[in-house]
Amino acid sequence: MNCWHCDRPAHGACQFCGRAICREHVKLMPSVIDIYQNHQGQYKALVVADALYCGVCHPQEDPVELKDLD
Ligand SMILES: [Zn+2]
Ligand SMILES: [Zn+2]
Repeated sequence: MNCWHCDRPAHGACQFCGRAICREHVKLMPSVIDIYQNHQGQYKALVVADALYCGVCHPQEDPVELKDLD
């Protein structure tokens, strides 16, 4: 797969949308990988500080509410 920006061989893929990106065009962005509830009932988020990001897509800052999962 080639880089979305320059069409050269890619080194990785955007964590958020899956676009391929080379080392030159990759950006880094914190990514929430998991959210859980602790014993006190507070929600905690596990965050990867330097997730690969393509610079093109628009990750949501806040978690999206999931409906109708029951
Ligand atoms: Zn590139
Ligand atoms: Zn992306």
